[in-house]
Amino acid sequence: MYDIIIVGARCAGASLCIRLAELGYRILILDKSHFPSDTNSTHIFGEIYFFERYNIKERLTAVPSPDIKRMRVDLEGSVFEADIMMTDRVTTMRRIELDQMLVQRMEQYDNVTFVKEASFVKAIKNSEVSHRVSYIKSNKEFFEEGKVIIGADGKYSKFAKNFAAPIEHKTESQPPAFYGYFSSVKPLTPPCVEWYVADSHICICTPTNNHLHTVLITPLIDQNDWAKQPREKFMSTLPKFSNLYSRFSSMDEEVVIKGIGKREMYIKKAFGDHWAIVGDALGWVHPISGSGMDDAFLGSELLAQSLHHYFQGLDEWQNVMENYETEIKKHLLSQINRVLTTFETFKHPIPHKQLEYVNLFCTYPSLIHRFGSHSSETIRELDERFYHLFSTILQT
Ligand SMILES: Cc1cc2nc3c(=O)[nH]c(=O)nc-3n(C[C@H](O)[C@H](O)[C@H](O)COP(=O)(O)OP(=O)(O)OC[C@H]3O[C@@H](n4cnc5c(N)ncnc54)[C@H](O)[C@@H]3O)c2cc1C
Repeated sequence: MYDIIIVGARCAGASLCIRLAELGYRILILDKSHFPSDTNSTHIFGEIYFFERYNIKERLTAVPSPDIKRMRVDLEGSVFEADIMMTDRVTTMRRIELDQMLVQRMEQYDNVTFVKEASFVKAIKNSEVSHRVSYIKSNKEFFEEGKVIIGADGKYSKFAKNFAAPIEHKTESQPPAFYGYFSSVKPLTPPCVEWYVADSHICICTPTNNHLHTVLITPLIDQNDWAKQPREKFMSTLPKFSNLYSRFSSMDEEVVIKGIGKREMYIKKAFGDHWAIVGDALGWVHPISGSGMDDAFLGSELLAQSLHHYFQGLDEWQNVMENYETEIKKHLLSQINRVLTTFETFKHPIPHKQLEYVNLFCTYPSLIHRFGSHSSETIRELDERFYHLFSTILQT
């Protein structure tokens, strides 16, 4: 019997597996995908200190992928740029490489059995002390037992459905997000996370491996045909971001546009009788947050700590899992609220007259100086939330 069976082997599942494997637990981890393989993502992540914990930070930094320290915000053509706060660097390594790095790391442990191309079917409580998990591989059904079982199988989680994990928090339907990889974008020096807003549309552009740029667009209005005709909608919207569009030397005709249509953000019940869920299976935050991977890493870190306490006999299952649930839900809820505020803000275009003030601001350095000199008062007047953020920054 395994101590832990994990379904799903990307950010949430593989990172959880690494943390538990180094503590000596016997783990079976399943994934229906083949590896290495890509997944839907624009792969921006900032919390690379997690990779120190997984002992792969050196490998991560050795792979030639952009190391981004700057953020550029282009608001209807007016450009603001600065060093990124909150994290030392942002990485935009393609998921096909990043996920593979995690998988290779977990496979180094003798106490880990990884079964690829194995599709979870169902789990039932077998006895007081174990669950019976079935999965299909090469058209054959297999059965395994685990003391604790974890679903890290993404936003369409079959594992969560198996346990009918109820949705405890749900937003209204949120805008589509579609992206593609382009080879013909002239790079910025130094590289930036580029954030564009034009005509109630958000676009994020980042350089990634192999001299490609990832471009993601989220329409905040007129969202209807995006899921049906993503390529047409994407290509006809791209020229709105004029400073980005002018950097295309040609249009990649073959580029594939992928993504998601309108859908709700949610947080589910995180655990039940010796099962738990983590990553997108637990909570889904719109990709505009650029935090799905970081959220998954944080979730697996908290879950690993709770499971270790349980297995060590330091506390009961119910208590350790309540701790996990409280912490991760608090985090996910704040991410969801941040996204809602972003959408609400940018849904309303700045009226033409006021936009001239923004241009004025970018034209006259003395105005920026005056803003800098009086920023704490200005931000307090603008919004209490930003004032708190600002005060925290000043204190650190
Ligand atoms: C368009 C888009 C852009 C995004 N951009 C970013 C970004 O820039 N930065 C960021 O941080 N996040 C981004 N995200 C979100 C990020 O990709 C996810 O939050 C993250 O991948 C979640 O990791 P996970 O391990 O929970 O789930 P996943 O990455 O979805 O992995 C789940 C795994 O479970 C496996 N699985 C599923 N069902 C089964 C089954 N029945 N049996 C066995 N295995 C199964 C799958 O094969 C998969 O490998 C984006 C998402 C989208 C849709």
